[in-house]
Amino acid sequence: MKAAVIHEHGDLNALKVEDVKEPKPGRGEVVLKVLCAGLNHLDIWVRKGRPGAQMKMPHILGSDAVGVVAAVGEDVQNPKVGDEVIIDPGLSCEHCEFCRQGQESLCVSFGLMGLSRPGTFAEQVAVPAGNCYPRPPRLSDEQAGAFALASVTAWRMLMTRAGLKPGETVLIHGIGGGVALWALQFAKLTGAEVLVTSSSEDKLSRAAALGADHTINYAKENVGKWVAEVTSGRGVDVAIDAVGAATWPLDFTCVRKGGRIVLCGVTTGAKAETDLRALYWNQLTVMGSTMGSAEDFRQMVRAVTVNKLKPVMDEVFSLEKVRDATERMETGRQFGKIALRISQ
Ligand SMILES: [Zn+2]
Repeated sequence: MKAAVIHEHGDLNALKVEDVKEPKPGRGEVVLKVLCAGLNHLDIWVRKGRPGAQMKMPHILGSDAVGVVAAVGEDVQNPKVGDEVIIDPGLSCEHCEFCRQGQESLCVSFGLMGLSRPGTFAEQVAVPAGNCYPRPPRLSDEQAGAFALASVTAWRMLMTRAGLKPGETVLIHGIGGGVALWALQFAKLTGAEVLVTSSSEDKLSRAAALGADHTINYAKENVGKWVAEVTSGRGVDVAIDAVGAATWPLDFTCVRKGGRIVLCGVTTGAKAETDLRALYWNQLTVMGSTMGSAEDFRQMVRAVTVNKLKPVMDEVFSLEKVRDATERMETGRQFGKIALRISQ
């Protein structure tokens, strides 16, 4: 079968589409025929490699997918052959103290599809049966395939970690990425007031069309001053940060006294300065967030289905064009999710 693989870590040239052996379902696993898969920033980190992170080469990239169950392994009751499913990309052991508490994303051996096992950028992928969920209605193949990782990440950040309430104000940095756009949709669903930033006027006007209440071009104006103006000097209740080093210091000037900062990614770098005076004097709460628990995933899919939400989509590429698709994401040109059409 065809798959997007790396033989070694590196730049875009390390990414190849080639023939690899088809997977067989292990005990408790199913094999999906992949219809569509979605790109995430994680794919870039996996390709470039991180110090200390080892993986078996060649490695198949990709965390998100929608597919049809083609084969089931031993001890699998559900799903069944022919079922259409999406994947929760978070992999947990089901036995450690955190898994037993239903906190799967805290699992001591937590992993991800496309990171700790072969990913979804392939005609077939083997997945633990417990990570398969019925395909949400009303989503196209492309939308369903590029759905899970960003939406569950945003859901956990806003709902489980920050505990967002109606009427609160949320600042979302760098609108255009998958997590930021889902955070915008979920914050509006909650009844919050949403402030978004971008360096692109086009992305800002599209965010406004999706319900953002206030927008600012951070390349042209001072974000801290703008937040103070918009909130009458008070500051926002919650800052949602998937950007990292570039926006981290700003989070501490933009949240109100007693405010919450939630970080889920470091696209611009992992080392940042923290204003410790602001942290204690303003009694701030700083939270990290990774993916979501099985319950976060269930709640998120339910909220998306009941409220007829859809992922904001950017472009769709064929598997052969995975390099172009990745380059588009890596250069920050996308607004919404980039999908790969893998089979019909
Ligand atoms: Zn565990």
